[in-house]
Amino acid sequence: MTEDVAIVGAGAAGSGAAYALRDAPVDVTVFEKSRGVCGRAATRRREGCRYDHGANYVKTDDERVTTLLTDELDADGLVDIEEPVWTFDAEGTIAEGRDADERKLTYADGITGLAKRLFDETDATVHRETRVTEPVREDGRWRLYDADATDLGAFDTLLLTPPAPQTADLLGNANWEHSVRRDIREAVAVVPYRTIVTAVLHYPFEVDWPYYALVNTDKEHDVGWVSREECKDGHVPDGESLLVVQMGGDWSVAHYDDPDAETTAAAADAVATLVDDDRLADPDWTDTQHWRYALPEGGVDDAIEAATDHGLYFAGDWVAGESRVHAALRSGLETGEAIADEV
Ligand SMILES: Cc1cc2nc3c(=O)[nH]c(=O)nc-3n(C[C@H](O)[C@H](O)[C@H](O)COP(=O)(O)OP(=O)(O)OC[C@H]3O[C@@H](n4cnc5c(N)ncnc54)[C@H](O)[C@@H]3O)c2cc1C
Repeated sequence: MTEDVAIVGAGAAGSGAAYALRDAPVDVTVFEKSRGVCGRAATRRREGCRYDHGANYVKTDDERVTTLLTDELDADGLVDIEEPVWTFDAEGTIAEGRDADERKLTYADGITGLAKRLFDETDATVHRETRVTEPVREDGRWRLYDADATDLGAFDTLLLTPPAPQTADLLGNANWEHSVRRDIREAVAVVPYRTIVTAVLHYPFEVDWPYYALVNTDKEHDVGWVSREECKDGHVPDGESLLVVQMGGDWSVAHYDDPDAETTAAAADAVATLVDDDRLADPDWTDTQHWRYALPEGGVDDAIEAATDHGLYFAGDWVAGESRVHAALRSGLETGEAIADEV
């Protein structure tokens, strides 16, 4: 009999799991609270530009994931960022970086193209703008509800992929009477996260740097990362620059609720000083994004494994213990395969 699988979250982990289940005898339904797919690997479009304002690129540290991107999925539009990443310290001293040979992958249509390509290979039904708020355990299945108490259906297997604090909230709301529930929820709830505020700065001229990005290595600077989207084919029209500035963890926590104009002004001033170019203090348009749960700073313990006996699975960067797209995708692939083995 065909089993019903629900996946909450259409990020790298959720889309990877759906991909791994594409040939299994299951019906897969994905619920995603946002309008778009790919979660924190996010892309926006504005005034002829496209920019990845969350994850900047996919690293090629995992051979299986790299092969998936380059050989299995539609590689049309796959972009290799060729310029290197350099470093800077608390004093703003810039130095050549360590990763000159590392490949950095995204798509001309934006990094969200990864989840789109994964879903394209599946028959999964993806419901966007649908936030799951309550899983209910009844008759050996999982019935899901949204915030309006709309019944989203009952499923044999439930895979949760939101960031750990949001997954812990779902487990907290779960109508599921079992002794393991509390241990699992506690294990998920304690995964620590770094907060990041992102500022996007656009200029009607092109900056001329020998690097794609600068990363702060001592984590003592107000800016954590600054990169040029024009180094990605298809992202920025010629003659323009678009900088993605990720503010440091301490700055982001202290200024999380600042008005957007203050955030972008602070980011622009900091970058202008860092690279010694006064023009950068005055972008012609800006954007922001606040990532309260940006990067897990640790993994989850084994307590979550007890959930599989109850048709409940977890995947994501926090399950992999590494805050990277490739790790989240790998976690989704492996969890999808584990579910396929059970049906
Ligand atoms: C600013 C920033 C920069 C980064 N830079 C890089 C980088 O350069 N390279 C790199 O490899 N990684 C980077 N990362 C990390 C990378 O983005 C993540 O590790 C990866 O995207 C996590 O994927 P995931 O599927 O585990 O989670 P997510 O991408 O968070 O996916 C979870 C999904 O669940 C959805 N969701 C949550 N709750 C619900 C609900 N109740 N109902 C329905 N849907 C729900 C969310 O909307 C989301 O789409 C960065 C992250 C940030 C924030």
